Formats: sequence, C-alpha cells, structure tokens
Amino acid sequence: MPLPSLPERFAGDPGPLGIDLHMHSTASDGALAPAEVVSLCAARSVRLMALADHDTMAGVNEAGEAAARLGVCLLPAAELSTRWQGVGIHVVALLPQGVSGALEEGLKAQARAREARAEVIAERMEKLGLGDALAKAREQAGPHRPLGRPDFARALVAAGLVPDMATAFRKHLGSGKAGDVKAHWPALDEVVGWVVEAGGVAVLAHPLRHGLTRRKRGQLLDDFAAAGGQAAELVSGFQNADVTRDLARQLDERGLYASLGSDFHFPGGHLAPGSMSPVPRTAVPPVWTHPRLAGFVAAGCDAPTPGAL
Ligand code: AMP
Ligand code: MN
Ligand code: MN
Ligand code: MN
Repeated sequence: MPLPSLPERFAGDPGPLGIDLHMHSTASDGALAPAEVVSLCAARSVRLMALADHDTMAGVNEAGEAAARLGVCLLPAAELSTRWQGVGIHVVALLPQGVSGALEEGLKAQARAREARAEVIAERMEKLGLGDALAKAREQAGPHRPLGRPDFARALVAAGLVPDMATAFRKHLGSGKAGDVKAHWPALDEVVGWVVEAGGVAVLAHPLRHGLTRRKRGQLLDDFAAAGGQAAELVSGFQNADVTRDLARQLDERGLYASLGSDFHFPGGHLAPGSMSPVPRTAVPPVWTHPRLAGFVAAGCDAPTPGAL
C-alpha cells in the first residue's frame, strides 16, 4: 500500500485531514458492518482510520481485509470502558502490534463484565416498568454483539416508556441515572497498563464529554499520564474552538500526543467518518507521529496476523 502522507504537525488547516481514529461498527453499538465503515472511509477520503468498537476487536479482521483492498490504513483498536473517580472513562487503545499479554485476558474480562453489567441494568430497567428487560435488549441488539446501554434505550423506546433515545439516556441510562452501571469496569490505570504492555498507544477518549471542570479534567489527564497513557483526543466530533485550544494547552503541559476522531456510530446523523471540528494550530504532536505508530504507518500499515488480534 502506498504511504499515506500524513501531517507531521497540526498547522491549523480548516479542511478535513482524512484521518479518523475513533469509529464504531456492528461489532459493538454501530449501525454499519466493519467493512461498510471502511468503504465509507474510502469514499470520504479518510486514509488513516481506527475502528474502535466498545471493549471488543471482533470487527478488526473484517475491517482490515476491506482496508487492504481499498487502500486505507487501518490501525487495530478498541475503545475500552474504565472507571476513574466514579466516572465512566473510555480509553481508545491503538494497537499496531495487536493484542498480547494482559490485554488478551483483559478483553475477555471486559466481555464478561459487559454481560454481568447487562443483567444489573436489566434488573434496574425492570423496576422502571420494562418487563423482561434483558430479552428485550437482546432483541434490539440481535444475536451477536455484546449488550450496551443503547440496546436498553431502544427497548425502552420500543415499549413506549420514553419517546426517543435521547430521553431514554437523559432519564434512565445517562451519567448518574439508574442504568449507568460502572462497577464492573476495571480502573483506568489498569487498562492503560494493558495497552502500554501490548506495545500500543493509550488515548484518553473524548475528555470534554464528561462534564468535568477544567481542574478535574486536569487531574484526569495527570492520572492518565502517570499510568503511562500517551495521548488524548484533542478533537472528538464537533466541539467549541476555544475549548479545543484550552484542551491543547492541557495536553501540552503533560507531554501528551493529540488524537482525533468522529466517534461515528451510524449514517444519517450529524457525524460521518472523518467529519469533526478542525484541529487548531498547536505544538501538541499528532498521535500518528508517536514512535509506536510512526513505524507502522511508514511500513504501509501492515496489520499483524489475524491470530495476533
Ligand atoms: P455502554 O458502552 O454500554 O456504556 O453505552 C455507551 C454508549 O451509549 C455510547 O458509546 C454511545 O454510543 C451511547 N450513548 C451515550 N449517551 C447517549 C445519548 N444521550 N443518546 C444516544 N446514545 C448515547
Ligand atoms: Mn457507543
Ligand atoms: Mn466513548
Ligand atoms: Mn466511541
């Protein structure tokens, strides 16, 4: 595959960079099959991508085959659920060397945690009037993918208990509500350890999306960096430009690299692969220039053998 020409620094280009390191497929709560996400990336001129499904890499092999066919550079990845100071924090693991060591067992534990958590969420949804909640969420998800809160949200809508997904999250499943069950997730620093040990880059996902104060966000970034985390999403979807510049300062102060992603889940919404706010001119280095990723990209993004995923 020809080398994708990737910017060495963020110069403040107003247009899209053709890079998206955070998207979802039907392997977790996305609407498109992994190969379809890759096709859409190719059609939208995204040349470097990461499929970051929640707590699973089940879609990465299919995506990798499509990426090789379409000339897109695919970084093996997953978005891992963790806990930090009572907040559910997500870590995008960029894994040029695939899965090994503690991460291998960690991914299995995440799958078990998601199952046990779904049972607790189901009990809580039953108390809110959704009879047979686990079966109804499974009906929404289909037979294959691990259950997540969106499946319960859809079941609440289908049962007529709430008018739409947004209300389901606002009243019952969003941060601090009955269905926001976090106890099953491992601590942030443990998960960062798995990723670093596997030769990967740990990226703190969407740090602006937790409603944290600037100070608390700084503490999160401190703890994340202290655990060995190397990067954070400077841009996640669409966000305020002043806030982005301020976040860039917080990354710069801690020597963190900057990643970016749409957090794309389904077509037809306001987000598409590669669509996000522009990255401002900043001294914070792009995550693909990190020594653990630069070689992978320069080598034409040769994915590890499927067995290593
Ligand atoms: P889980 O991974 O099971 O904790 O579910 C979290 C997922 O729910 C996120 O990754 C989003 O895809 C989705 N989600 C979170 N908040 C909302 C919301 N307000 N409306 C729709 N979907 C949401
Ligand atoms: Mn999601
Ligand atoms: Mn997330
Ligand atoms: Mn995501």
